[in-house]
Amino acid sequence: MIERPTLHVVSLSGGKDSTATALVAIELHGRENCRFVFADTGNEHEATYEYALEYLPRALKITVDVVRASFVDEFATKRANLARIAAGEPESEVYGRRKFMYRWTPALASQALEILHPTGIPYLDLCMVRGGFPSRKRQFCTEYLKTRPLTEFAIARIDEGHAVWSWQGVRIDESESRRIRLQGTGTCVKSFEHIGDALFVYRPILRWHVEDVFAAHHLAGLKPNPLYLQGMSRVGCMPCINCSKAELAEIARRFPEHIARIAEWERIVSSVCRQNSPVSFFHLGTQGHSGKASTVSDVVEWSKTTRGGRQYDLLADATPATACASAYGLCE
Ligand code: SF4
Repeated sequence: MIERPTLHVVSLSGGKDSTATALVAIELHGRENCRFVFADTGNEHEATYEYALEYLPRALKITVDVVRASFVDEFATKRANLARIAAGEPESEVYGRRKFMYRWTPALASQALEILHPTGIPYLDLCMVRGGFPSRKRQFCTEYLKTRPLTEFAIARIDEGHAVWSWQGVRIDESESRRIRLQGTGTCVKSFEHIGDALFVYRPILRWHVEDVFAAHHLAGLKPNPLYLQGMSRVGCMPCINCSKAELAEIARRFPEHIARIAEWERIVSSVCRQNSPVSFFHLGTQGHSGKASTVSDVVEWSKTTRGGRQYDLLADATPATACASAYGLCE
């Protein structure tokens, strides 16, 4: 059997945990045996792009590859279906009889076709082709925007002849839900796993505490992502669908342009999705009256209230607000 050289592939998010993971990889295996890769969702803060793609390469003397999910094929399928409706075919002929019909008319389908083109912004394109935004219960963003492109990157390296260790900066104590999930008897508790073929997963900081993570930065002379000094408990999508009420209020106060961008995305996604049923970035949808979406602007207003917000139960529906469903540490 031919021995494959091992390549250590570190997924960088611009956050503290993946940076600490990169430091361990470099120390143990040297830059020449490591690759660093950043999955660009198109929904990151500019400080995160600067940190992951400029500061870290400079400070660590590394190159960072960028992967971006593409949904060009899905756009083509969705456009072909809408074109049939625009030409007069009934929706039931195009999609088959379903419990929920979206009530497309030829005029509405024509309007949607004008807007339904890939933008090259992975997050927005994903939502346009999926017909809505991800939610805590259907967190497809991590799968499509991070897990798949990063796995494809690793598989391409295996096809080049390497054995790949995929280094993931996940920590058990990052959140209560993750602690519970990772301390069970499932596979997630392992810091090292053989996934299959020549692909392995390594989680070197699984049992580190947050103090260890910042200490590793300090010892290496690295600055953490500056967003940590601006009220953000994690970095990643700006905003993340998992962000807390307080975090959202802080984002709106400091970075209103990102809220405006999400509001524009809501308008775009609504215009190519379910007719007469606007979609919202945060799946609150529980304002006491039906038929009105909880737009990001509504939710921001609620986030500024000091108490209650009985009309919204967003941040109570699933995991704690600091958690991400990914056990792979892809979203901080
Ligand atoms: S950071 Fe949040 S919004 Fe972005 S991909 Fe991860 S879970 Fe989804």
